[in-house]
Amino acid sequence: RAKSAGGNRFELADPEADARAITRHGLTTALPAALDRGEFFIEYQPLVRLGDGSVRGAEALVRWLHPQHGVLGPDRFIPLAEHTGLIVPLGRWVMEQSVRQAGKWRDLYGDGAEGSLRINVNLSPCQLQHPGLVQDTVDILERTGVAPDALCLEVTESALIGADDDVLKPLHRLAEMGVDIALDDFGTGYSNLANLRRLPVSVLKLDRSFTRSMQQFPADPVDLKIVEGIVALAHSLDLAVTVEGVETGAQAEQLRILGCDTAQGWYYARPGPPDRLHHLALADATG
Ligand code: C2E
Ligand code: MG
Ligand code: MG
Ligand code: MG
Repeated sequence: RAKSAGGNRFELADPEADARAITRHGLTTALPAALDRGEFFIEYQPLVRLGDGSVRGAEALVRWLHPQHGVLGPDRFIPLAEHTGLIVPLGRWVMEQSVRQAGKWRDLYGDGAEGSLRINVNLSPCQLQHPGLVQDTVDILERTGVAPDALCLEVTESALIGADDDVLKPLHRLAEMGVDIALDDFGTGYSNLANLRRLPVSVLKLDRSFTRSMQQFPADPVDLKIVEGIVALAHSLDLAVTVEGVETGAQAEQLRILGCDTAQGWYYARPGPPDRLHHLALADATG
């Protein structure tokens, strides 16, 4: 059906794909104005310590309140923003808002016994390659007056695979300043574990696929061994392990037993407005 007998007529190929392409095109052209108009907003999802249930911080997750399509998730527009280069100013905006928010939380809760709250911000590979990354980050921390250890940048494992020094140098500089670097979606790529030593990361974020396999009881014994091995390796390299996508108490318990440090997922809270975190953090401050 796709190709007509003539060979090069594609117009009736797939109306749904056409519709998707038209929407994609529309979203792409609307992106720059959307940033100027303030149509983006950030939801925060708490990260909780598995040991005592206290709040470690939150991950910033960007959304687009599109005037026609309603709320769009990042999977709908981040790839387009990457393609057009808008990801650089958009990412800068996300970082500034998030760091400012982290500063507010720190003012509210002070330095708890467990240390102060931290905000996790996702970086796309394009941002890593942008020469202004370090300076932009320094400027944001200065403008907001927030300490570098309030910020954790999440970089995917795949963005760093085979990364050369040009990509790693800015990450090293940020790490030296005291910004934490987390390896996001860890375990999905083709990570060479030995490669970890070369990277300035202090946190491994275990991919949701591992968490998912902890849902069955008993969990897949191979996955249990893998997670156990990753945790042992991470801890021996002084890295903390975070798990994402925790949806049930049973998963949380299993991952806690396996030695994971912090967790994130619907079991604790869906991503939401910043005051949602206030309730959680206050609940823990008051026991
Ligand atoms: P990610 O960094 O791996 O973020 C975790 C994703 O898992 C989020 O999806 C979150 O809403 C979702 N999630 C959290 N808990 C659960 C759970 O218990 N179960 C399930 N099924 N899902 C859960 P979201 O918000 O749609 O974000 C998708 C991806 O978009 C993120 O994956 C991240 O890679 C990217 N992203 C989000 N915000 C930004 C941003 O500001 N900049 C960049 N470059 N990428 C972003
Ligand atoms: Mg992330
Ligand atoms: Mg992740
Ligand atoms: Mg993920």
